[in-house]
Amino acid sequence: MLREGNKCVTYARISARHNQLVARRFVGQGKNTGFVCANCGQDVPPLANGSYRNHCPYCLHSLHVDINPGDRASDCGGLLEPISVDYNGKKGWIIVSQCVKCGMIKRNKAALDDAHVADDFEKVLELSQHSSSNTPP
Ligand SMILES: [Zn+2]
Ligand SMILES: [Zn+2]
Repeated sequence: MLREGNKCVTYARISARHNQLVARRFVGQGKNTGFVCANCGQDVPPLANGSYRNHCPYCLHSLHVDINPGDRASDCGGLLEPISVDYNGKKGWIIVSQCVKCGMIKRNKAALDDAHVADDFEKVLELSQHSSSNTPP
């Protein structure tokens, strides 16, 4: 971990979530970087196959920082909450997430076969059960 100045530490205490955003901007230099999940706080390593990891494998949350995958072009920074999953014959499981801040819907391919940390399949299944019933949680 990098040592941070007192100002940063105080800032982190004020808002852990904002600190995540600052940290992401700070390390956001390549497509294939790990990050700390803004929802569950787990350390998320990059995908083993080199593609951009856009959600947390533990809780399937991510942050609304991209317009297109990996571009970090969005200023929203809201938490993307998984709301359902779709199964696509070609792509496999697709996690459908909604930004809690702006309401945007994003679809991310699940990484169930990643060699570092694969997505939690039980979480994916839980979501698929949500999707098949129309009753609100
Ligand atoms: Zn998480
Ligand atoms: Zn958003």
